[in-house]
Formats: sequence, structure tokens, C-alpha cells
Amino acid sequence: MKIDKYLDKLNEQEGEQFIITLIQILVPLFLTIIILYFSVKKNSKLTEKITKITKRNYVVYEVPISEPNAFCFGGFGNHIFVTKGLLNLLNEDEILAVCLHEAGHITTFDVVQNLAVSLSSTWVAKAFIESSSKFLLKTDTPLLFSVKVIFAFILVVLLSASPIIILGKINEYRADKYSVKFGYGKHLASSLTKLQKYVDEEHVGENAFMKSIRKVSNFLDVHPSTKNRVDRLLKNVELYKAISKRNISGVKTIVSDTIGG
Ligand SMILES: [Zn+2]
Repeated sequence: MKIDKYLDKLNEQEGEQFIITLIQILVPLFLTIIILYFSVKKNSKLTEKITKITKRNYVVYEVPISEPNAFCFGGFGNHIFVTKGLLNLLNEDEILAVCLHEAGHITTFDVVQNLAVSLSSTWVAKAFIESSSKFLLKTDTPLLFSVKVIFAFILVVLLSASPIIILGKINEYRADKYSVKFGYGKHLASSLTKLQKYVDEEHVGENAFMKSIRKVSNFLDVHPSTKNRVDRLLKNVELYKAISKRNISGVKTIVSDTIGG
């Protein structure tokens, strides 16, 4: 009887913990969405242009933030968000190129994909921790124990982070191609270069410690490096040009260059 009561209590505590965690995640998310929807305003000019270019209904919103950025809830609605900072930094063709990149994420439901992959990889990592905890906690020499813990930690990070990073990079290149498809590849390349310059200028005078932290976070970023993206974009621009001109030998040269280098 006592044990029954104890187990009930444990179950209750676990249930409470789950609800608290859910509230901790959902409340800030909900507030962010509410604040976002009340602070943004529709940009009719960009909305009209993007709809005309893609022949699909997208709505572009301006976010009153000075940092240049753009985002969407790919798969949840057809809204594209661009910050005031982005509108100030780029010219109109570059802004349209960025909006097309976001539209690319929407057409392939990238946010839904990311969510599914991150949930399942977290689940895999959790299952790994649970199944290996017995082996990890077995009494060993302190050195062996530390090695085991470090090894397990690296494995958990790899299991939980790498699928989302790999998928993220694939999705970024694919969304870039969406801009190329509508003839805005070169503009996207120049916008990426401008954005990189902005980031570099922001971090001038940064100390070595912050620099190394940024390197690690760049490594964990779903976005490929700007150089790789720009290189690939310019190559894809040439490829689309050659394909539209039915220039078979041109296509062959570009493809063999890509595979070779
Ligand atoms: Zn993107």
C-alpha cells in the first residue's frame, strides 16, 4: 500500500513536471508570436511583386527590428517576414531575392521538416541516454568514468544535432535555388555578401574567446558558409542560363566542374 502511494506520487510529480516544461516552452513562444503579429505591418509593394514573380500568394511583412534578417514559418502559412534592417541594407532586387529564398522554404514545408527531424533526433538521443545510463554509471576508475562520460556526451550531441544541421544545409541550398529559378540568383549572392560584411563589421574588435564561441556556433548553424552559398549560387545561375539556352556543352562543363571541384 505504501509503495502504491509512493508510485502514485512519483507519477503525479512526473505529470506536473511535464506540464511545467510545456508551459515554459509554450508561453514564451505564444508571446513571441503575439508580439510579432502586433508589431509587423504588411508591405504591399513587396507582396505584390513576389506574387507577380512567383504567381503564388505570399504576404510580405515588415518587422521593426534594426538587425538585417528574414524568416518564415515554412509550411505554416504563406507569410514572409523581413526586418527594417534588411530593407535598409539591401537594394530592391536583393530584397526580392531574399523573399524568394524564404518562399522556397515555404514551398517545401522546411519548418515542418525541421520540427519533425529535431523531435525525432531528440527522442533518439534520449533513448540512447536511457539505455546507456547503466553502463555509464557502473563504478570504474575515475579516468575511465570521465572518458566514458565525455564520449557519451559527444555522441549525444552528434545524435541530436547532426540530422538537423545536415537537413538545414540541404534546405538552405534548395531555397537558394528557388531564387535562381526566378532569375534572382546574382541578387541573392550580392545580398549574402552584404549580410556577411554587416556581420563581420558587427564583430570587429571581438576578443579571441568570443571569436572561438562564434566559430563553434557557426559550425552548429544550419546555414552553409556564405562563401559556399555564393559560389554555388553563381554556378547555378550559369547552369540555369545554359539550360534555358539549351547549351548542352555549357551544361556539361558546369556540371563536370561542380563534380570535379
Ligand atoms: Zn533560409
